[in-house]
Amino acid sequence: ERSSIRQISGWLWEIPRSYRSDMCVPARFYASEAMLEQILADRSLEQLVNVATLPGIVGFALAMPDIHEGYGFPIGGVAAFDLDLGVISPGGIGYDINCGVRLLASRSSFETIRDKIPDLASEIYRQVPSGVGRGNKIAFSSAQLDRVLREGARCMVALGYGEPGDLDHIESGGMLDVADPSKVSPQAKQRGHDQLGTMGAGNHFVEIDRIDAIYDRDAAGRMGLFEGQVVIQLHTGSRGLGHQIATDYIRVMNRAMPSYGIEVPDRELCCAPFRSLEGQEYFSAMSAGANFAWANRQLITWEIRQAWKSVMGSDPLRVVYDVAHNIAKIETHEIDGQRRQLLVHRKGATRAFPGQPVIIPGSMGTASFVLEGEAASMRESFGSSCHGAGRRMSRTKARHTVQGNQLRMELEAMGISVQAGSMQGLAEEAPAAYKDIGEVVGAVVSAGIAKKVATLVPVGVMKG
Ligand code: 5GP
Ligand code: MN
Ligand code: MN
Repeated sequence: ERSSIRQISGWLWEIPRSYRSDMCVPARFYASEAMLEQILADRSLEQLVNVATLPGIVGFALAMPDIHEGYGFPIGGVAAFDLDLGVISPGGIGYDINCGVRLLASRSSFETIRDKIPDLASEIYRQVPSGVGRGNKIAFSSAQLDRVLREGARCMVALGYGEPGDLDHIESGGMLDVADPSKVSPQAKQRGHDQLGTMGAGNHFVEIDRIDAIYDRDAAGRMGLFEGQVVIQLHTGSRGLGHQIATDYIRVMNRAMPSYGIEVPDRELCCAPFRSLEGQEYFSAMSAGANFAWANRQLITWEIRQAWKSVMGSDPLRVVYDVAHNIAKIETHEIDGQRRQLLVHRKGATRAFPGQPVIIPGSMGTASFVLEGEAASMRESFGSSCHGAGRRMSRTKARHTVQGNQLRMELEAMGISVQAGSMQGLAEEAPAAYKDIGEVVGAVVSAGIAKKVATLVPVGVMKG
């Protein structure tokens, strides 16, 4: 409850270790005072306290202002573990392994191409297959799929779906080299084999945006962004393949946990010691899933470039950056003056290393933000920031509160071209279902872990 939360600053709150005897570290979260009530309305802080009980957790169980309830771990959570004493947990990464966002930039300003935006939206929607479980006409052999799992976006570029320079603008270069396709089940491969280059449904989207404001000219210049520019965000992950990897290893870990003497307050927190066989196998499989997601966003980039070329003639789209927001990686962080390697889980949280572009989608009817990581992120948040606005309404509630058709008309009236596979799906993703993106970004910016570079406003939305 509210009384057990201690305010550390205007933007940072702590639930001390004394709150529950099983906590190994305090739980901390970023939020403005005004956001507290909303955060206390679901079980997300209780979930954060649960995370603080996991073996080998270092520093704090952390959450960003877009925190909301998730599977075991809250979405918007960051947890770092000692490599020798700590665990790895599928719930701390999420079912959609390496769900993430890529930002593409055109050289055109909105005013010069505004008449073509509706055509561009429908052409992108035609080129990028979408919908639940929907496959792609571009098929890959099982040998090629194994290479995708090992090499991620790198493999796609080698196959001709992109330019070598694209890889310089992807977190981890679009490839985790610990990936091992032999740790991914045949069922997972079967589910993913024709899903490369597909968006999926629900929260996933491709969106055409106009840059509405620039806050930091230097940073914007480095990223090649200018006011009025047309840019494209794409948000998707590892599709059925990643989901099956998570399902497979949640089962493995539930079975293995007792033999390691690990007890968790919620079975959705199932985990294994990072150094155990199960821990290492999941880490290798999860990394393969992450590579699949980077390959997916790379192939979708190729599809979007095809669409752009056919509607606009030639004006090549450049990759500004690609961030993962559901992943665990080994990183070096300074803890009490000592540099240590840690396994950092980010679930609905974005890496925000100093100088790194951070892409924060808001909703289909509000602004989105481009931020840049700041030095304080390394001291305070294991180099992390928020990943979006975060839900404030369940899908079910949104479906019952919002009329899809009505919403579509409202968006069109705002000058946003809408392409959507289902009106119910659209309603579930209504802007009203999400927190205020300005408040969320305001909190991380005030906390000093990232700075504002630009706001984007939607002009064309494509949903599965
Ligand atoms: P998640 O990965 O947690 O599902 O979603 C990331 C964030 O994307 C959400 O928290 C929400 O703020 C944002 N979002 C969801 N749908 C859309 C959309 O259609 N357009 C934009 N720009 N953002 C969206
Ligand atoms: Mn996501
Ligand atoms: Mn996802």
